[in-house]
Amino acid sequence: MDDEAKAITKAISAGGDMSKEKIAQFNEDIENICTYCLDGPANDVHTRWTCKAFKEDRIKIDAEIAAIPPDLLPYCIQCVVAPAMALDGNSSFWGHQLPDELDDKIKKLLGRNTYLKTPARDGQAQLLKDQALGIAEDDEWSGLNARQFMMKQKEAYGTGSNLDFPKATDIEMLHQGLDQSQGTRLNDDNDKVTDGEDTITLNQFQPDGQGFYDVFGDGSYTTPRNWIAALGGFGLWIPRWPGTLKQTFQFGAIKGLKASSTRMELAGWITSLTLPFKNNYATDNAAVVGKATKMLAAAKKRGRPCSRKRNHPDIF
Ligand SMILES: [Zn+2]
Repeated sequence: MDDEAKAITKAISAGGDMSKEKIAQFNEDIENICTYCLDGPANDVHTRWTCKAFKEDRIKIDAEIAAIPPDLLPYCIQCVVAPAMALDGNSSFWGHQLPDELDDKIKKLLGRNTYLKTPARDGQAQLLKDQALGIAEDDEWSGLNARQFMMKQKEAYGTGSNLDFPKATDIEMLHQGLDQSQGTRLNDDNDKVTDGEDTITLNQFQPDGQGFYDVFGDGSYTTPRNWIAALGGFGLWIPRWPGTLKQTFQFGAIKGLKASSTRMELAGWITSLTLPFKNNYATDNAAVVGKATKMLAAAKKRGRPCSRKRNHPDIF
């Protein structure tokens, strides 16, 4: 490289990343006028969004984006930096009010979303939409962007859900039922137990031959494209709660920022281990079966995890 080439390279590297507008601020020989259209400031944002010289090119590349009035786009978007997403579906993605006269197509392109306000296909779906709208429009969330709102809904790891566990009377009846199911009649007065307004005869308890009750569990996790919006939970259905003929449910949301379908399924199974009776757990998840088998084998190796002295049935 000779001296002249070196000088040119140095000049380019020193000023090459500056717009003409910037250079005009310290060099009187340079005017702050766009070189292409001779009508407008000589900077990148003008060239990209408003320069007349490139109008046809913009339309050719994307007619819809070219149709957006540039003053509706915040400066960060004009510089290709995405802002935080707003929660309100009536405004643009970044929370600006959209002028009424704007074309509906452009309103949609800029973020207007009427999904929760359009009628649903059936009553159940309408109920869900109304609930979602109620949450989204609650004043409690005003000022939060969409990400902050979802973080609030999901809460921190380990927040947990309060489960509805059996009351003391339920457990008492449960033990009477289990004694009966194992063939031990305490005395003649235990023929009948009262469950609220219903009186139930003890011989109506019907666990299987070894005293196990059926529990059906499942977990579910929504997987939208963006993990921030994913929510999940689990549910247990116990068609016959020991001590009563009534079915019962236990369910909870799984809190925390991230989760997986398997985590939801596992939460269901682990909750079934807290039930105060032996149970046959049904699941459709192969990962849970694999992990449960491994854990139970390890527990068996170490010995029975629950002592008989505790005077309640061993969950294993
Ligand atoms: Zn121009």
